[in-house]
Amino acid sequence: MGRAVCLCSGGLDSTVAATIARRSGMDVYLIHVSYGQQAERREIEAIERIADAIGASDLMCSRIDLFRNISALTTQGARIPRGEEVSLDSESTPPTWVYCRNTVLLSMAAAYAEYLGAHSIYVGFNAEEAMSYPDNRPEFVEQFNALLEKAVASFSRPPKVVAPLVDMRKKDIVRLGADLKAPLELTWSCYLNGEIHCGTCGSCQHRRRGFVEAGIPDPTEYQH
Ligand SMILES: [Zn+2]
Repeated sequence: MGRAVCLCSGGLDSTVAATIARRSGMDVYLIHVSYGQQAERREIEAIERIADAIGASDLMCSRIDLFRNISALTTQGARIPRGEEVSLDSESTPPTWVYCRNTVLLSMAAAYAEYLGAHSIYVGFNAEEAMSYPDNRPEFVEQFNALLEKAVASFSRPPKVVAPLVDMRKKDIVRLGADLKAPLELTWSCYLNGEIHCGTCGSCQHRRRGFVEAGIPDPTEYQH
């Protein structure tokens, strides 16, 4: 089946996407990027456990400084919208937007994939996040794949971005993850770096609603 690079934050969606790749028989090479996100320490703790749980062949933890201190998400201690300040189904771009983030991160994943000879790059892009983050949308994936056709050396086969959740909402992702026995209990979704999930940031609220709507017990412990 070959190798797949899985761009994984340690959160729910990318962990389910990586589990799909692994369950389909591919050797999975996880890549996590620390770009200054407030929760980077929690994400790395989560992904180290996830890598073991899904039987990943390797975990690459990479780091870039470009995004540090330019977004609420990437400024340690900056105020992130909580509770009623969060609008879950808004189409406007929230202060947690990080400029061209997925373009940069996918370029890193593509470089790693070309080096490994991996033909697939799995991502957890999904319909719910695509509403406010344009670099989660199907047309972004399509255009990035067209770019990859022109971006690699003549001796390489271009890797392709695979976004198995791109049309799915959180409740469907939770259900699929539970069916696949993805290690949902090990994932970290919160934008903050507390001891447990805050329960009130946008990412926690999406996660909570997903479990509730899926009718599946949420293994996550929330502060509020
Ligand atoms: Zn949170």
